[in-house]
Amino acid sequence: MTAYDYDLFVIGGGSGGVRAGRVAASLGKRVGIAEEFRYGGTCVIRGCVPKKLYVYASQFSEHFEDAEGFGWTVGERSFDWKKLVAAKDKEITRLEGIYRRGLENNKAEVFDSRAELVDAHTVRLVSSDKTVTAERIVIATGGVANAHISLPGYEHCISSNEAFDLDALPRSILIAGGGYIAVEFANIFHGLGVAVTLIYRGKEILSRFDHDMRQGLHKAMVEKGIRILTTDVIESVEKRADGELVAKTKNGETIVADQVMLALGRDPNTKGLGLDAAGVAVDHAGAIIVDAFSRTSVENIYALGDVTNRVQLTPVAIHEAMCFIETVYRDNPTKPDHELIATAVFSQPEIGTVGISEEEAGKHYAELEVYRAEFRPMKATISGRSERMIMKLIVDAASRKVVGAHILGHEAGEMAQLIGVSLKAGVTKDDFDRTMALHPSAAEELVTMYNPSYRIVKGERV
Ligand code: NDP
Repeated sequence: MTAYDYDLFVIGGGSGGVRAGRVAASLGKRVGIAEEFRYGGTCVIRGCVPKKLYVYASQFSEHFEDAEGFGWTVGERSFDWKKLVAAKDKEITRLEGIYRRGLENNKAEVFDSRAELVDAHTVRLVSSDKTVTAERIVIATGGVANAHISLPGYEHCISSNEAFDLDALPRSILIAGGGYIAVEFANIFHGLGVAVTLIYRGKEILSRFDHDMRQGLHKAMVEKGIRILTTDVIESVEKRADGELVAKTKNGETIVADQVMLALGRDPNTKGLGLDAAGVAVDHAGAIIVDAFSRTSVENIYALGDVTNRVQLTPVAIHEAMCFIETVYRDNPTKPDHELIATAVFSQPEIGTVGISEEEAGKHYAELEVYRAEFRPMKATISGRSERMIMKLIVDAASRKVVGAHILGHEAGEMAQLIGVSLKAGVTKDDFDRTMALHPSAAEELVTMYNPSYRIVKGERV
């Protein structure tokens, strides 16, 4: 028995924190956990889960249109934003309950409070102003939307936090950023009938993705009617007397919209956490610095998930939590594995990807074979939709290993998850070639691209 109140105290009840706390408690550890907002964290409460529900909601407008090509007559349609928000709230409240019960059923002590470090073993629970001590502490406080306070008029703008719960569906929205959140919300709002303008500082949206995915999605979004401004940024936002927002851009555009949403990245949530007092080191961005086992500069304090700014994805935080459990409580030192993480952008069409882009691969491999197929999906033939699907495999010519797989199109995320298994297993292009096609499907293209579309030799396309 230690002299501490808890074996483990977890600060932050999101994906990483809840997993670490719940599993440690299930192993018989005395666990306390504190969350200042709602259990489930960003992913469940105002991130991945409600986002995906809204993606489904927004897809119906195209489903109704497509149905007509297949002989259906769809009657008058209308959309009720408040009904969607209420249904979403009900679902996330249900999920929040599951997270909380998972902790309680394993006898973790659950606090609804902000928690701050006092020293390396002491945590202050802000709501009760009580301190508790713990042998080990896990910090899993996640991230916060970059509010961009240097932008004049930033206070008039919303982030994804507010976008889920607006009082009314805006008629028009200007979204700043070219990453996951900006692109996903641009598609959601467009699908719900909102006039959307996206403004991005770079030449092409989704800077970390393969260029074919970026260009293909950009084109599809513009064809749908989403306005995309590139190499431009908002320089000011003013609120008019009638409540409309007026944004001025660097390139001289004036955009009037009901809402302006900033999706300019998320910062590690470390402000006021008492890291100095405990001696926990952070980097220039405020992210907690950790070693390969998620241990901070303080021996008994670990950090998991977005607060460490490694890879800002829910499954990564959960994986880091499980590695922490293995290392600390199962005597099995385990480093999180951040290689070959499958990921999706839930745009319309979707992007699903695993491994590296063609551009990135060109920097690491002497010779690559690129297999690329672009086609009209079967459903679009009769529906009349102009959508194209793109599939791409990047193969290291020397080892024949597939080092990147990229898909743009319906259910691309689902496909990327499955291809992720084979890439993780070190699959070669020959394995793809000897896999029988499943017909008729879109995914069969992945196993029927027999000849390279082109090669990349020493970074140059030949
Ligand atoms: P991202 O990092 O994906 O994108 C941020 C965007 O903002 C980039 O386009 C970036 O440009 C731009 N940007 C950053 N700073 C500025 C600035 N000062 N002025 C103008 N533009 C700027 O962040 P998000 O906010 O979209 O998402 C946060 C994280 O959440 C993501 O990294 C992702 O890991 C996670 N997420 C995952 C999802 C999923 O898995 N489907 C969905 C949503 C979020 P540039 O590219 O030029 O740097």
